[in-house]
Amino acid sequence: MQTCVPLFAGRSEHGGRGVRVCGTRAYGQLVGNRLTGTEVKGVRVAGETGEMTQRARYTYRLRVSATARAELEGEWGRCRWLWNECVARAKKAHADGELCGPARLDQMLTRARAVTPWLAEGASVPQQQIIRDFAASRTKALKDIRNRLPLKRRAGMPRHKKKHEVDPSLNYTRRGFRLKGGRLHLAGGIILTVVWSRPLPAEPSSVRVYRDHLGHWYASFVVLAPIEPLPPTGAVIGIDWGVRETATTTSDAHDLPHPRHGRKGQEKLSRYDRMMARRKPKKGQAGSKGYREAKRWRAKTYAKIARQRQDTARKWAKKVVRDHDVIAVEDFRPKFLARTSMARKAADAAIGATKQALIEMGRKHARDVRLVHPADTTMDCARCGARAKHALPLSERTYTCTACGAVSPRDKNSARVMLLRAGLDPAGVEGARPPGAPLREAA
Ligand SMILES: [Zn+2]
Repeated sequence: MQTCVPLFAGRSEHGGRGVRVCGTRAYGQLVGNRLTGTEVKGVRVAGETGEMTQRARYTYRLRVSATARAELEGEWGRCRWLWNECVARAKKAHADGELCGPARLDQMLTRARAVTPWLAEGASVPQQQIIRDFAASRTKALKDIRNRLPLKRRAGMPRHKKKHEVDPSLNYTRRGFRLKGGRLHLAGGIILTVVWSRPLPAEPSSVRVYRDHLGHWYASFVVLAPIEPLPPTGAVIGIDWGVRETATTTSDAHDLPHPRHGRKGQEKLSRYDRMMARRKPKKGQAGSKGYREAKRWRAKTYAKIARQRQDTARKWAKKVVRDHDVIAVEDFRPKFLARTSMARKAADAAIGATKQALIEMGRKHARDVRLVHPADTTMDCARCGARAKHALPLSERTYTCTACGAVSPRDKNSARVMLLRAGLDPAGVEGARPPGAPLREAA
């Protein structure tokens, strides 16, 4: 089990808590910075005090006056123009065989602000941030090409942002905003009323102000919040994702059936889909009022389903994290299944939200969450470690081992394989490997 690599370094390499990645192949390359006192993707350990903090986002609804809305939209218009300018420049630089790095783009911004009065009217902080975002997203795309990632998993080159397709999103660093009298003051004199649904745990280091597709505005603050450790329980759990049951675990009490809240919403969604199809505008024409209405209802329903899904996910994650010290979970990537039936898509979305909630909850409460590579987990026997010659078809619900004759429900077997792959001893877990049976090395 030497392939376990701490992705989020904790106190020390082995005694630490955080999220680890376990398993095969490329996973060995995901080595994080193991030094304590440095920040590794979210978790930070203070050098001397040992007090752990984590970077977390706290999002609040905004009340936006008509003036403020016009100002925000103006800022976004300028930022969007800059982004599109960057896209064009980068394309040209590529064609001419020139470099187009962040420093060059920064210079471009300085020059553009000097000669373009309407651009200089806007605050410089969000403009610098959008240039940085562009540079980061281009660097990522180039890196994926260099690493010859399969096309499906590549981050695409940053593309033109169209006015009516992209919702505004403005980023402000520490010097670009302040909180005064409970209100959010942005650079450029924009004042927003925040709905403080819960208190901010610490001084925020940055804020993103954005509008969702329903037209609601939000402020999302980044803060370093202290980690709240939970008392140890001595228990471990293995988790496998699936279509019928969102999560099958090594503990029967923690299985999560696929939540059905999509069903009622799904009926509504297809009704709005039909309405939109009936009212669909002819090519080149703007959508009618009825079309826009149906579109908005559809978006509202969709947002509601997503909220319900996240609520279920968080409640389940809290329960799992409270009852277990170490959590071995399949590192499922929803993208692979997305292009199939509606049921699969709904299951995918539920798994994605649940996995995310579990990782976040584990981090918040200093639990050890280990991500296990999903390859072949349905083919291995959790009792003797033998690998079946063929993958089980999805319709086959029981796993029968040809080597030792063990019979167990397919998903329960996979959940136990997760434990083994993460280097955990499933002793004490129901139906586990008997003492003395050989333990198979992870592939
Ligand atoms: Zn076996």
